[in-house]
Amino acid sequence: MVDLKAQYNRIKSEVDVAIQEVIDTTTFINGPAVGAFQKDLEQYLHCDHVIPCANGTDALQIAMMALGYKPGDEVITASFTYVATAEVIALLGLKPVLVDVDPKTFNIDPEAVEKAITDKTVAIVPVHLFGQSAPMERLMEIAKKHNIDIIEDTAQAIGAEYTFSDGSVKKAGTIGRVGATSFFPSKNLGCYGDGGAIFTQDEQLAAKIRMIANHGQRVRYYHDEIGVNSRLDSIQAAILRVKLRELDQYAFRRNQLADAYDAAFGNSGKLITPVRFSNSTHVFHQYTLLTNGVSRDEMKEFLESKGVPAMIYYPVPLHMQKAYLDPRYKQGDFPVTEDLCARVVSLPMHTEMQDEQLQHIIATVNQFLQS
Ligand SMILES: *Cc1c(COP(=O)(O)O)cnc(C)c1O
Repeated sequence: MVDLKAQYNRIKSEVDVAIQEVIDTTTFINGPAVGAFQKDLEQYLHCDHVIPCANGTDALQIAMMALGYKPGDEVITASFTYVATAEVIALLGLKPVLVDVDPKTFNIDPEAVEKAITDKTVAIVPVHLFGQSAPMERLMEIAKKHNIDIIEDTAQAIGAEYTFSDGSVKKAGTIGRVGATSFFPSKNLGCYGDGGAIFTQDEQLAAKIRMIANHGQRVRYYHDEIGVNSRLDSIQAAILRVKLRELDQYAFRRNQLADAYDAAFGNSGKLITPVRFSNSTHVFHQYTLLTNGVSRDEMKEFLESKGVPAMIYYPVPLHMQKAYLDPRYKQGDFPVTEDLCARVVSLPMHTEMQDEQLQHIIATVNQFLQS
């Protein structure tokens, strides 16, 4: 699905120097590379405060801890997402409230969000799924009207740009009260291990987030709150600094591949190509097709038998996951999500794909469609 080795080879000299520098100075934890990456990312995102942490799941958890929610508070999120989003809500004793998604963009449906709001709702967690922003303008209106927070899960959409109706443009993850991202190796901005970050424009909240990520201390050995230990290590930060410089080029390359896939399958009638939402650029974390009258599972099996990887993101809706079964929800409650889980299939999407590889993937998919 990705070729991280080929990607490394293109930036090897810079990455090797960056890693060696951390080793030479033995600044493994909280070294200068972490602060430098933080500054670079703040600049790239036009965001006042970036707080690096250990992974994307921690980023979400720390954001919710810093916002001071109480057990029983309700947090609304999409039923079609990666489990981490709902996991941290449940772990903190908050109540995950699921809503369905838009059948075209696969992103959270704002009207369903508004219907799910109660007097216990404290936050909405939109997930910018597969690389394009959720409908943030409408979500922000709803959040403002009901005086609740938005925590953006931007693990799949770093670099995507959202345009508001007044023409202003913001990067995904910097629009709500706080944003959370992941630098897992296969994400669009991935390190060589685990990493994550939290974004906010609110200085006071940023200070609280920093404190919670660092054992609840502002001053060493004085713990004001119960926190966690969640750090981005210096070697990962040094690698991310190099890769951040490539990020827009990576997104450009991903869009070129998406265009080629669109052109190849757009008129097939048997596959529905990704719908690009007019308010957001797409950074194609995943290129996800919807099968239409052909068997998704047979397609996946066929591709794999010909050496073409294909993945299902995600096969099971959150409300049907064993750990998240809840008497409030039953099969049929989120028809769009359930339908998507049965029909989505993602093709390889990465920055170093060779033209022969692309043509082979397209030919193999076409072979399946004609079989
Ligand atoms: C990857 C991902 C996360 C979690 O990131 P980790 O760094 O693996 O903890 C959270 N939400 C979404 C939507 C993701 O894709």
